[in-house]
This record gives sequence, structure tokens and C-alpha cells, in this order.
Amino acid sequence: MSEERKALREKLLSRRKNGYDRVKAEELPAMERYCGLYKTFLQQGKTERECAQKTVELARQAGFRPYERGMELKSGDKIYRVNRDKSVMLAVLGRESLQKGAQIVAAHIDSPRLDLKPNPLYEDSELAFLKTHYYGGIRKYQWVTIPLELHGVVALKDGTAVSVKLGEGDEPKFVITDLLPHLGGEQGKKPLNEAVTGESLNILLGSCPGGEEDEKDRVKLHVLEKLYDKYGITEDDFTSAELEAVPAVQPTDIGLDASLIGAYGHDDRVCGYAALQAILELSDPAKTAVCMLADKEEIGSMGVTGMQSAAFDTFLHDLCDGQGVALRECYENSFCLSCDVTAAYDPNFPEVFEKRNAACVNYGMGLCKYTGARGKSGASDASAETVAYVRRVLDEADVLWHISELGKVDAGGGGTVAMYMANRNIATLDAGVPVLSMHAPFETVSKLDCYMTYKGCKAIYEAE
Ligand code: MN
Ligand code: MN
Repeated sequence: MSEERKALREKLLSRRKNGYDRVKAEELPAMERYCGLYKTFLQQGKTERECAQKTVELARQAGFRPYERGMELKSGDKIYRVNRDKSVMLAVLGRESLQKGAQIVAAHIDSPRLDLKPNPLYEDSELAFLKTHYYGGIRKYQWVTIPLELHGVVALKDGTAVSVKLGEGDEPKFVITDLLPHLGGEQGKKPLNEAVTGESLNILLGSCPGGEEDEKDRVKLHVLEKLYDKYGITEDDFTSAELEAVPAVQPTDIGLDASLIGAYGHDDRVCGYAALQAILELSDPAKTAVCMLADKEEIGSMGVTGMQSAAFDTFLHDLCDGQGVALRECYENSFCLSCDVTAAYDPNFPEVFEKRNAACVNYGMGLCKYTGARGKSGASDASAETVAYVRRVLDEADVLWHISELGKVDAGGGGTVAMYMANRNIATLDAGVPVLSMHAPFETVSKLDCYMTYKGCKAIYEAE
């Protein structure tokens, strides 16, 4: 081929390339370090409350102060506000006025799981069980026969809350049983999403009867005694509890080359941690940087701790008040990166992807102009100008990224917090880490994509 043709091809053709062929070798140790910190965060944050708590801990270490309404602030100040222990907002005040807008990264720290019902405990055939109601989109068959832990709080009538963590480390775990293949013939004929029903996701809690032979419900009472001894709670206290069954697995490297991370809750803590770590390291940004770690995304972002809650507006309103700026003016000049995971192309299931527009493992942060389903319904669909702005910011900061969409047309779809930000009159674009087996009890991501998403968040905070 002539040099001229080569140059033409170079100039006109888009070339999607594996991130490992583009990343600078000197970045790899930093990537490994970052991923180590992320694994620790995941290990300690298996619920939204634990993630919020860990976030506050890290923020304080990085010099962030709890923000009180009316507090005097100057540029460079680092603050945070916690919303009801489940969601955290952090900000680093910029050199410019909030009138010029804020640079926002929004992610969520809730993940799919099994919540206990308000009246969960029962005994059947001398075994004790807990009834569950699943939270978020799960494939129910994936949650049987895996070890589970129970995390959460029991709020008592006197206003105190008991923090519960059962099954960690060497402690006994819990499990949901399934049929043996020998007797699973009929079940096996059912469609995958009907073979295991929601009402059969009952957690095995114990089997040893306590008390005396003529008593009823001896196994149930025995486990209640154990709960009372450890936490001082009774059966009625389940009524005002939020107890979440989460997989009893630790984050671990995957692959002989250790290039991937397997864990529970990558969606969306992998982006939440990227957004957090990037703002913790930020100093003296031009515009005010805001990190929003929301709850309730997996069930539609409703509720007082979700992205639709006025808690976010109140926080920014308070900051704007301090500068005599109208919130609406701040919003219309702001940008938000809705940082959430996307589906990574899985060659085991090529039929649901459209390869030219799929997010790929190791291709860096996956940008999504739109999400939604059935003709982009439920998507905020970022404008061409917004995507161009992000292309420029990411390229200038040497962030590896690729454009993608979640699955092929009409194969399904999904949403993020993007639309709720966009509805506030904030230009918003979706971007995040491509995930294999998203929403499974054990999800897989690539280290390179984790690191590039962190770099991407940093670039957004620092952008003019
Ligand atoms: Mn998500
Ligand atoms: Mn999700």
C-alpha cells in the first residue's frame, strides 16, 4: 500500500483498539495500586450504608469536613453531606463562582440483593428460614446454593439502631437451597426465570432445636435466642429493620494474568469508588466539583435517598446560597457524568449484542449516549454537543474510552440516574465500567477499565 493511502486510512478510519495496546506502561503500577484500594473498599462496603460509612471515613482522612448549612466556604474547601446514612454528596469548591456551574459525577452505591421481609422468620419441618423480597433486577436462579451474609440495621422503638453483620470471616454463613438434579426434572423444563421463584428464595437460618421436646418452633426460638444474645433484638424488631442478604464472597483477581476483578457489587460501586477517589485527590479545581453517591438506583431512584430526591438540590442550593447564586443558573451551566456500569460484550452470548456498538472489556471507560429500552424510552439521550465535550475532555486527559450501547436494539435495556440529572436542566452523559455478568452475585470487570473510569472522573472534575 502506498504511503499516501496509508495516511488516508489513518486519517479517516476509526480504529477501536484494545486498551493494553494504548495504555502507557508507566501507568500500569498506578492501575494496580488503584485496583487494590478499590478491592478493599468493596470488601468493606457490601451495602449502601456500609459504602456511605466507608466514604465518610475516607473523606475525613482526605481533609473533607461535614458541611453545615450557612457555613462560610472559600475556594479549595472540601466538604461532604450524608443523606440518612445511605447516600453521600461531596464537593470541592472551585475558583469560579457556582454561577458558572458545577462539574458533577453521579454514581450509585446500592446493589441488587435479597432484603428480608418485615416478618421474615419461620420454621418449617424443623428448619428455620428467613423470607426475602429481592431488591433490584436479579436472575433468581443465581442466588441459590451460594454462601450469603446478612448485613444491615435494626431500628428500635427507642430511636437507637443496632448494626447487624452476620457471616463475615470465619462466622457461619447462610444459604438458599435448590433441588438436586435427580429430582429436578420438572423444574428443569421451566424457563430460567420461572424455575426459581421469588417466594422460594428463603434463607436457611438454622436446624438445631433448643428447649424441650414438647415445645413448638424450637429451631426458630433457638436462632432467635442467638440473635437476642448477640444484638438484643426480638422477632417484632424485624418489623423496623433493613437486613440485606449479600453474597459471602470477597473481591478477588480473576484470570491467570490477574487482569480482571471478580466481586459482588461492582454495579455500581466500581464507578462510585472511581468518582470518590477522584474527588478525594482533587485540589483547587476551576469549577466546583461535586460527587454524588446515590442510593435506590436499582429500584428506580425513587425515595428520599434516591437520585430523584430533593436532597441533591438542597445540597447544591445551600452551596449556591453561600455565594448568592440562583440554583437554576448553576444547574444550566453544570455538567454531569452519570457514572454507571454498562454491559460488556460477552462472546458466550453474542446474540444479545451488536458488536460494532458494544462495550468491550479492556477498551476503557464505556460512554453511552443513551440508555433506555424499546426505542430509547427512558433515556435522557445526551446531545451531540455534550458527547463532543466529553470526547475532548477525556482525550486531553489521556483517558481511554469507547462509545457503546447496552445490548442490541430491542434485546432489552436499562436506565441509570442520568435522566434525573438531565431533568434538572443539567447536561448529562452516561459513562462507566463494562461489566461481565452484571447483577449476578459475582460480577467481573477489568482492571484497566476501572482505572480509566477513575481517570475519566478526575478529568471531568478538573475540566473547565
Ligand atoms: Mn448501575
Ligand atoms: Mn444495576
